Amino acid sequence: MCTFGLDAARWFPPYTLRVTAPLTTGRLHHGQTLLFDADDTLWENNIYFESAISSFISYLDHRTHTPEEVRDHLNHVERATIKTHGYGLNSFRQSLIACFEQLTDKPLTGEKHDRILSFAQAIADHEIELLPGVSATIADVATRHRCILVTKGDDVEQRDKLLRSGLALHFAAVEVLPEKDDAAYRKLAHQHECDLEQTWMIGNSPKSDINPALGAGLHAIFIPHGFTWVLEHEVVNQPPDGRHLLELESFADLALHF
Ligand SMILES: [Mg+2]
Repeated sequence: MCTFGLDAARWFPPYTLRVTAPLTTGRLHHGQTLLFDADDTLWENNIYFESAISSFISYLDHRTHTPEEVRDHLNHVERATIKTHGYGLNSFRQSLIACFEQLTDKPLTGEKHDRILSFAQAIADHEIELLPGVSATIADVATRHRCILVTKGDDVEQRDKLLRSGLALHFAAVEVLPEKDDAAYRKLAHQHECDLEQTWMIGNSPKSDINPALGAGLHAIFIPHGFTWVLEHEVVNQPPDGRHLLELESFADLALHF
């Protein structure tokens, strides 16, 4: 059965969700277009960044700033870096170096520079870890529906992760966007000739997956991840008239609806 209530207890402020018309009591008919986010929807991602950030904060071992203050400053630096360099590991490397330089008066020696970059490199070296149920569920729904991967970040990095995930064969197309906002979803829907009535964005991020997809007139499926990146946090919007917003507890639950 479909559930239309969103669990506001995690990191969302309380809000009221307008209940939309039920989808159906069973699966939707074949031929829907399913747009899938990648990081923290199909595979683990943010936990590796969190681990790298912890290593960085320990290494910095700041005399006056608490770990929380260093983390807040890194978030601030990351927002600025993303504006000029986009998302991805290279941007993250630059943020760590900039944060170090801004918070310490110690000279950035070659050795320190390499050590800081090694924290980011640990992310790149990590194996792809699919989230529970993803492999079987994607293989199943892709037999009935058109699946398109819609991620943001560095094109080479994201396509490499898809290749290593073993999931590439299930996707009819792959889009790596510099930003996932309303305009990006409108453009994508137009390019892929999506029928808005039958197109669903599926992801873990209110900011990049759910709200802009609803804003562009698509349906949305929210699958929360317990460790979503803080820069992706946002209150989930209510869907506009005629659009559905569904929260699922697990990726495998997609097969109940599609
Ligand atoms: Mg994501």
